[in-house]
Amino acid sequence: MNRIEAHQVLVTLDSLRWDVFEATDLPFLKSFPYAKAHAHGSYTLPSHISMFIGKLPWVPDGSMGQQWRVKVNNVKHNEAKYRVPGRTIKHGFSRLGLPPLGSAGVMWFAPDVPTTAALLDGFEGFFFSSPFIDLQGGAPKQVDWMIRAVQEQARPCFVFLNLAETHSPYFSAAHGLRAEITDRDADACRQAQKASLCFCDQQLAKLFEGLRQVAPCEGVICADHGDCWGEDGYWGHGIVHEKVLDVPYVKVG
Ligand SMILES: [Zn+2]
Repeated sequence: MNRIEAHQVLVTLDSLRWDVFEATDLPFLKSFPYAKAHAHGSYTLPSHISMFIGKLPWVPDGSMGQQWRVKVNNVKHNEAKYRVPGRTIKHGFSRLGLPPLGSAGVMWFAPDVPTTAALLDGFEGFFFSSPFIDLQGGAPKQVDWMIRAVQEQARPCFVFLNLAETHSPYFSAAHGLRAEITDRDADACRQAQKASLCFCDQQLAKLFEGLRQVAPCEGVICADHGDCWGEDGYWGHGIVHEKVLDVPYVKVG
């Protein structure tokens, strides 16, 4: 494979519903092609395990192509723009000279939780900051950390960012709205997730501006799963339901 000249970027907006994404004015995210996709997991852990081997949310008409896959010997059906060696795309890009850097905000990635080992495996630099723990934390601190980490590398990197603001409780200190699944109030959840998404849109514009000072960017911004807000009696995720499995998929570069 020729030398990779662009950052490979994967952003997950945790729990973001497709219908909220579709109905929201997003100057940054909607400057790229996007589509409704089908998540491979109904909650954070399986969905990210899948994404880390390059199996991203599936767009049924194939219009978004495949960005990455782990190379499997003699298997022809896993074609992708970048087929990389190793057990995850983190390990693969590391072998190809792109340091894997990660930052996350949901508790599945908290470094002091033993079950996170499968998700943190392979990162050469990792920063956890959750708005649920630190009101001034989450996206702003994660974006600042990532820009600094990439600028220190001064070369194309594999960049992974998981944002928690779109996860219940849908909250950011920047917009002040707050709602959570246990409130059983679908309208409040929708308004608060929408406000969080607008905030994330601004933060991602800042992230990409910083990354592009080092190298061009390409990759995917998506959700790992959605949430049910009372549809068919269900609330939250970890449920095989279309509101959980329908997610936005944004193709960058
Ligand atoms: Zn999640």
